[in-house]
Amino acid sequence: MTVLQLRGVHRVHGSGETAVHALRGIDLTVAPGELVAVMGSSGSGKSTLLTLAGGLDAPTRGEVLVEGRALAGMNRAQLAELRRRSIGYVFQNFNLLPSLTAAENIALPLELDGLPVRRARRLALDALARVELTDLAARFPDQMSGGQQQRVAIARALVGQRRLVLADEPTGALDSQTAETVLRLLRRQIDDGAAGVLVTHEARHAGWADRVVFLRDGVVVDSTGSSRAEDLLEVTP
Ligand code: ADP
Ligand code: MG
Repeated sequence: MTVLQLRGVHRVHGSGETAVHALRGIDLTVAPGELVAVMGSSGSGKSTLLTLAGGLDAPTRGEVLVEGRALAGMNRAQLAELRRRSIGYVFQNFNLLPSLTAAENIALPLELDGLPVRRARRLALDALARVELTDLAARFPDQMSGGQQQRVAIARALVGQRRLVLADEPTGALDSQTAETVLRLLRRQIDDGAAGVLVTHEARHAGWADRVVFLRDGVVVDSTGSSRAEDLLEVTP
């Protein structure tokens, strides 16, 4: 079964003269154990694609299905539940809540989902151990480096049984070594059976994916295995 499916997806932002046709007929499927990288210049529609995949936004035409269920057929509560339980989202700017510790940030979606506080905390600590940050459980975001914050954000996106992990330039603000660590963690979760979409500017990072999709002006212009993507981009100045 596919985890994520986009069928003929269009998204127009705004209307009339100022309308922006951000996506123009996207078809994409991502299977369990598969990581797809999305590349393309700024404004090509990468973030729009990801927000639609995560149910944070809806297409103006076409369909998005997660685990075989059409998002358009869900009410707000069902969509919110799907986002909390099945979808992990990593943003470029981490999006941690500043007033919560690392462990609390990770436990929050679980608690919102009705898990007892102690169980949520145990799962949060497990997730922190996976990103090798056990020692920082009680730190607040402003007491951590950018790399540490992003690893907490990754842990939050992976905690519980997330089936779909969506990462929008998660390494944009990180040095190359920390970026590699973050990508290795993402890859491991995918290898454990989740499906993932990674938006990235860097061919080297796309090398962690099984497949690379290139967007231009809201259209998929090419789709390749990741090794070929690296070759393609290496010759590009
Ligand atoms: P990327 O992530 O590849 O840089 P985006 O998906 O953010 O691209 O944007 C695609 C196009 O849609 C751009 O032209 C952008 O200006 C436009 N866009 C994105 N979000 C909005 C919005 N909320 N309202 C109006 N236009 C938007
Ligand atoms: Mg973007």
